[in-house]
Formats: sequence, C-alpha cells, structure tokens
Amino acid sequence: MMFEPGGALPWHLELLTNLRRAEQGRLGHALLLVAPPGHGIERLVAVWVSRLLCQNPAEEACGACKSCRLLMAGTHSDVMELYPEEGARQIRVEQIRALVDFASKTPQFGGKRIVVIQPAEAMNLHAANALLKTLEEPGENTLLILLSQRPAALLPTLRSRCQQWSLAPADLNNTLAWLKTWAPDEQTAKQVLGMARHAPLTARALLDEGWVKQRNALWTNVRELLEGRNDAVTMTKSCKEIWNHELLPDLLAQWVEDWMHVEAGCHENLHHPDLLSEYRLILNRGLSRALLVDLWQQLIHVRDELSGNVQPALMFETIFMNFARLTGRGVLS
Ligand SMILES: [Zn+2]
Repeated sequence: MMFEPGGALPWHLELLTNLRRAEQGRLGHALLLVAPPGHGIERLVAVWVSRLLCQNPAEEACGACKSCRLLMAGTHSDVMELYPEEGARQIRVEQIRALVDFASKTPQFGGKRIVVIQPAEAMNLHAANALLKTLEEPGENTLLILLSQRPAALLPTLRSRCQQWSLAPADLNNTLAWLKTWAPDEQTAKQVLGMARHAPLTARALLDEGWVKQRNALWTNVRELLEGRNDAVTMTKSCKEIWNHELLPDLLAQWVEDWMHVEAGCHENLHHPDLLSEYRLILNRGLSRALLVDLWQQLIHVRDELSGNVQPALMFETIFMNFARLTGRGVLS
C-alpha cells in the first residue's frame, strides 16, 4: 500500500533533495523522519525508498524493474514495514524481534535492506528497548527509517541513536495553489485549509468528502437554531449524519470567531466571508456578547474532551443549547 506509484508532493521536494544528497555519504543507518500531520510523509518515504532500491534509477524509480514491481506488489523481500497490528494501538516487542532478525540478514537484491517503523511513538517501552541495539548496529546495508509526528514522545535513548530529519510544514501560498485543483474557488481552499490546521492532505480529504455541502447544511441548521426554528436536540441528531464530530467544534468556533469580528466592526480576514450578509442579519437581531465569549471558550476546549470518555451527543446538545441561548430562542424546556 505504501509503495503505490505517484510522485512526491510539492512540499516534499526540499527534504527529498537533501536526503538524496546525503546518500553520497552523510546518511545515517537509522533515521528519524519528523513530519507534521497531514503532510503525506509516507509518500515521500515511498518515493525515496523506491529509487534507492530501483535497479535502473533515473531522477525517480523506473517503476518497471523487478525491485520496483515487487515494491508495488508489497512483496519486496528487502523491505519491512512495522506498524501497530490491526485493532492494536502499539507496536509490540514481538514485532521488533522479527525486525531485528530481518535487519541482520544480507539483502537479497544486493542493495539495501529497508525497515520503516510507523509511527515510531507507537512502540511500547519493551519494543523501544528491544530496538536500541539494532539502531546502533543494524546489519550491513540496512537502513532503519522511523516516522514520527511527536518525537518528544520517544525515548531519549532512541532519539539520540537516530539521525533526525524534519519535513517543514507546507508553505501556505504554495499549498493553496496546490489545493485549487480540488477546491471550487480560492476562498473555499482557504477555509478548508484552516479547518485542516494547514495540513494539505487533510484539507484535500475534506474537499473529497464534500466539505462545501456539509458546511452549508450545518450552517443552515445553526441559522435555524439562532432563529428559533430548530432546537438543540434535533440539531444534535442531524449533526451525527452530516458531519464527523472531530471537526465540528472547529467549524462552530470559526463561526463564533467570525461573529465576534463582525460585531467589533471588523470585516476582514473572516473564516467564512461568503456568509457575511447572513452574519449581519443574525447580529442585527442581537447576540449576547458575554455568552458569545463563553461559547467560544467552551468550543476550543471541547476538542480535547472529545477524545476522552464523554458522550459526544450529550456534549453537542449542550453546545447547541448554548448557541440557542445567544439569541434567547430555540431552547426547548
Ligand atoms: Zn526500478
């Protein structure tokens, strides 16, 4: 799955070039590749590793030699990928033992043996400890690649044994240019990128999932709630169907932020400028400023609570009741 054909993404090119330069001698035998979420670091690794192993490499892997074909089929005998097994959250020590065994053997294709561990922070303590010796002395021609979004969560002894490389967050303007292929317009691209916290692939996935339609549906619901034509319970039910809970607090917080901006007379840099005239209609009817600030604070805390042990439906019901309170309408007793 990892070694499907497809080139590097625009924000990969600098790191990819640096890694290729390092192949001439500076490259360590254990690498820690740190990347922000939603930047497709796996794809970068696939492009790089494919070329490393290719039997006829040019600027990129040829895609046709035996090595390339086996990689794409997921059956290359010199490549091992480690990730948490299905249904598990951790990489177990047994998996690391298999890795240690793999790394000690001679490459069958006469090139390198490659091990990719993803994400490195999924290794539990036993697993990480079992890896330390191999990180120091992997077999000849073995390259260990550890991927991580949270290097601080790794054992310091593990980090110190790796050569660290970082993928810089994608440049905002370049990402917008890239995203325009899938977004109906630049404004939508900006909104989605904001929702995705500037992670390009997350933004792209949102667009693929029909973000524009979902946002409009949710906005209609919120407007009806503020106008007293909808209630928190109904709203919570419909949200389950139209939006995934993880992003809901972010989107709701964006609207509250926009209202605070507009209310303060500031019409620039809104998250959703296309809704300005609708915002004005709502604000003209009067929103409680104090409740608005409370609601915003509630929303920015909600995302952390979502991953905890609460019932999302109940939490959103409370939030929607607070939305309704902003205008004093729509609260069912
Ligand atoms: Zn090839």
